[in-house]
Amino acid sequence: MQLPSHSPARRRIEGSGTTEPSWIGSPHILDLEPAESADWAMRFARIWILAPHPDDEILALGGTLAKLSQQGADIRIISVTDGEASHRQSTAWSPERLTEVRPLEMLRGLGQLGVEAEVIRLGLPDGRVGAHRTGLLKTLAERVEKEDLLLATCRFDGHPDHEACGDVAVLAGELSGATVFEYPVWMWHWALPHEASIPWARAKRLPIDAGIVARKRAALDEFKSQVEPDGSRPPILPPHVLPRFLRPFEVVFT
Ligand SMILES: [Zn+2]
Repeated sequence: MQLPSHSPARRRIEGSGTTEPSWIGSPHILDLEPAESADWAMRFARIWILAPHPDDEILALGGTLAKLSQQGADIRIISVTDGEASHRQSTAWSPERLTEVRPLEMLRGLGQLGVEAEVIRLGLPDGRVGAHRTGLLKTLAERVEKEDLLLATCRFDGHPDHEACGDVAVLAGELSGATVFEYPVWMWHWALPHEASIPWARAKRLPIDAGIVARKRAALDEFKSQVEPDGSRPPILPPHVLPRFLRPFEVVFT
């Protein structure tokens, strides 16, 4: 997760975003339908997670991945970029350093969560995934099969890379017959709880118990490049953002 170079006009990511108390008290969140059963995902042969940047998979779905891994699911993470553009003005965090560090932070985070997963790094340019849709679709079409679940960032998430991944995942689902669910990361920032454009009827709540939330907190602490200040600059993921990702549930759009 990182600040985009530009955002679609209606879904601009700026300022400190929607506060967590606004979300938690909103009827949309309180009334979210839970997934039908604890082992809802085990009917799929493989669980693919399309993550635009190293951290999106854990921010949005770390708890769910921990549960699925405990249940023995075959989890495969497609890490689309290495997240090298998160610190555009920084002297301490060069793109080369971030390319090295961020994928390692993700692996440490998965370790904290006890997630066993195959990780496939594509190395597409951070911030320009949209220019590589054809290649990304080919990559997915070669791998994802009809009996699989593909989890991808929302087509309306507000970050160009996230939306490009969502667009391509939906196409890949149409081609392969795989089930596609979308997960929000930046939506929690730009949207308001009464936002009419959010397809709440498709949203599902995936419950996370307190033990796994604690492990997710430890996993987020591994993303030091994102959660620690960069000299006098604030962190990419400041403290007020983290509670969005430490709720006792995660959300997907089915
Ligand atoms: Zn991201």
